Amino acid sequence: MPKAFVCGHPIAHSRSPSIHGYWLARHAISGSYTTIDVPPAEFGAFLLRVRSGDFVGGNITIPHKEAAFAAVDRCDAAAQAIGAVNTVWREGSMLWGANTDAYGFAANLDDRAPGWDLGRRIAVVLGAGGAARAVLHALRERGFDEIRIVNRTPERAAALAAHFGPRFSAHDMEATDRLLSDATLLVNTTPAGMHGSQELPVDVAHLPGGALVTDIVYVPLETPLLAAARKRRLATVDGLGMLLHQAVPGFERWFGVRPDVTPELRARIEADIAAPQAA
Ligand code: NAP
Repeated sequence: MPKAFVCGHPIAHSRSPSIHGYWLARHAISGSYTTIDVPPAEFGAFLLRVRSGDFVGGNITIPHKEAAFAAVDRCDAAAQAIGAVNTVWREGSMLWGANTDAYGFAANLDDRAPGWDLGRRIAVVLGAGGAARAVLHALRERGFDEIRIVNRTPERAAALAAHFGPRFSAHDMEATDRLLSDATLLVNTTPAGMHGSQELPVDVAHLPGGALVTDIVYVPLETPLLAAARKRRLATVDGLGMLLHQAVPGFERWFGVRPDVTPELRARIEADIAAPQAA
């Protein structure tokens, strides 16, 4: 029976088992997908288990994505550009790694806002952490004309702009209002707004009328940023679809079937998020 996993630390609140469990049942595959809590000191030993064939592969999440990138034998172009691996599998004696977050980000927008990457494209990206790297890679792949990275710690934004190339620029938070005035896409990659936490000091009133606003935070589904954008009648896309779509390539790799992100799957995870114990 093919066995896959998601490993991280902590890992209890991961929604990945619900997603992969839904697809296993839908395709009548007698496989498994389980959460495994692996503290950083034990990650190397855990990867040895993967290499030895205990699993067909799995997902790697916080805080192991960079360690996995360093440990795999081969990785795809996205992982190479992002510097982090979230999906692993074995091919012969090789351990392979991929990063599917950039794919998930773009596939979500393709699904919910078709045409988002057409015409003149100027993006403002809030945040310069691990998730921002995946979003920046996706925007570069889709040929965005200009990508403005805004971060609380401007040095981190500058490092990412230098890494990703000439169409990228770095800015501090004070510049945001001005940067929004001709933007076609605003992306929040910071955890601000999650679980009703501190909101971003960003005023969507400065965006042009045709702009699209997306938040990769998905708890709550409608973050304060998305609520403000919707109130201004701007197009919005929430972050849940990114989570669902990023899971597709891994499932296909491990279980041999390319699954669909169906309305039923989305409704299940939405219900989970809305449940009182949701974290
Ligand atoms: P990270 O590496 O810790 O980076 C966080 C970034 O947000 C940093 O640039 C940080 O700024 C900034 N930040 C944090 N709190 C802030 C605040 N209150 N105001 C302004 N900026 C703030 O985190 P990450 O791995 O990139 O994850 C970020 C979020 O994305 C998390 O909420 C995560 O759940 C979500 N996510 C969603 C998906 C999905 O599938 N939808 C996938 C991956 C991640 P400094 O540099 O100044 O510290």
